[in-house]
Amino acid sequence: MNKVRASNPLLDGLIPYDPKYIPARVMLSANENPQSIPEPVLKAVLDRLSGLDFNRYPDPLANDLRDAIAQVEGLDRNNVLMGNGGDELLFDLALAWGGAGRKMLNIPPTFSVYKANAYLTGTDVVDVPRRDDYSIDEQAVIDRLSAGDIDFAIITSPNNPTGTVASRDFLIRVLECTDALIMVDEAYCEFSRQTIAPLVHEHKNLLVLRTFSKAYSLAGARMGYILADPEVITEFVKVRQPYSVDAVSQAIALEVVRNRDLFQDRIDRIIEQRGVLAEGLAAIEGVRVYPSDANYLLVRLEGIDAGEVWQQLLDRGYLVRDFSRSAGLENCLRITVGLPEENEGLIRALAQILKG
Ligand code: PMP
Repeated sequence: MNKVRASNPLLDGLIPYDPKYIPARVMLSANENPQSIPEPVLKAVLDRLSGLDFNRYPDPLANDLRDAIAQVEGLDRNNVLMGNGGDELLFDLALAWGGAGRKMLNIPPTFSVYKANAYLTGTDVVDVPRRDDYSIDEQAVIDRLSAGDIDFAIITSPNNPTGTVASRDFLIRVLECTDALIMVDEAYCEFSRQTIAPLVHEHKNLLVLRTFSKAYSLAGARMGYILADPEVITEFVKVRQPYSVDAVSQAIALEVVRNRDLFQDRIDRIIEQRGVLAEGLAAIEGVRVYPSDANYLLVRLEGIDAGEVWQQLLDRGYLVRDFSRSAGLENCLRITVGLPEENEGLIRALAQILKG
């Protein structure tokens, strides 16, 4: 027989998430760290890997890593769960707290993966849109959660792609107004120097998502984690893939956690460069730069099609992220903060394109 039965009808017309990965000379599109891990960490990783039993399955829960992270956060192993990147844990969230007849509160424009996961798990999405300046409509979120029918919410701080942080006061009000599980996605929190993680002790409905992909230079190794009450972690363990976190990534991440002090200077430099980039871009006529506490800047172009500008930047070797056709982000590009010379080059290239 040369035919195949149809897939799940949910997939009809579903457009897969497209990270728009295009190799370019200067990669400023995926909010990666512009530098790989520091040399001493690389050496320690290679040592560790040379002694690894590649024939054995990894520790399914990566307990050494959980312990190391728990120690950093002042928590217990049972408050921590590792995932194959934050992405896996986002999917697990939709599996564990979503599903048919259940509701997720979303605050767009934000990371589009949340909605895609909701869709795949049959979860209804309740949108509470951000204001024009991308600040959260705090009262609208509280009011909607207070209605009592939301099962979980995701609040991204700093938000991707807008760079906006959610205030601590607001997050506390949210945690107190509902028993919905509140995920605070802190994928970029090292660049805002703000975290809500210490409140995991006090709020059973708080779930913090972190990743090693950004500040800790490990986008290639795929490692993320959640911090939450042990009862919440137990539910995630029920839906996760048993061996999703491979032994190689565990070994790498363990060395990164142990040597995390070596990353601090690099993070500080990215924060400093964010200011330089923002200033340089804002000085170009027709470019509006939104304030950002992350390692990227959202810019809106005036009087010119941002999609065309995106292509012209790529022609010059600069890959940035084109959001110009995304709802609420019309004519916007997102630019990752790179190395000083990359940022300078990008500013120059954009200025030339807009002038000419
Ligand atoms: N949350 C946000 C807001 C992100 O931008 C990303 C990466 N694009 C993730 C989570 C997941 O990152 P990773 O899977 O690389 O850990």
